[in-house]
Amino acid sequence: MSRFRCVPIPTETAARWRATGQDDFGNALRRSISPGTGAPCRHCLQNIAKGEAALLGSYRLSGPTGIYWTPSPIFLHEQECPAYTGENELAPIIRTSLVSVRAYDANQMVLYDLGQVAEGPDADAPLARALADPRTSFVNIHTAKPGCLLTRIERA
Ligand SMILES: [Zn+2]
Repeated sequence: MSRFRCVPIPTETAARWRATGQDDFGNALRRSISPGTGAPCRHCLQNIAKGEAALLGSYRLSGPTGIYWTPSPIFLHEQECPAYTGENELAPIIRTSLVSVRAYDANQMVLYDLGQVAEGPDADAPLARALADPRTSFVNIHTAKPGCLLTRIERA
């Protein structure tokens, strides 16, 4: 597979949310205590452990821009956490849901023929297919059921 990295939300965004209590659209963040599943942090790309505080807000995606742009609800650790830095591996939060792999071209248009839904443990093959295609500029992986962004993926 092409070399790649999972790109978390910017550390500046995480810090701003924690400092202001507001998301990218001025909504008050919703605070909850993680039950141990279903709360993937988009900054460290780890699942928020049972008993840890989670913040929920609406995130302004960096891409795709234009017609295919959408905001996304995301969870974030309430406490400071390190930005994910792994390379050539899918982050832990990808492995625990049914996911939707969405590839986009350099014009920010979706490549429908490369889109695929897979169980997290089986997401490597659809990602490899998307990254092997020269039209692909970047990939977003979302939860397949609610459709929330899990992470952006770029070639390393
Ligand atoms: Zn985190």
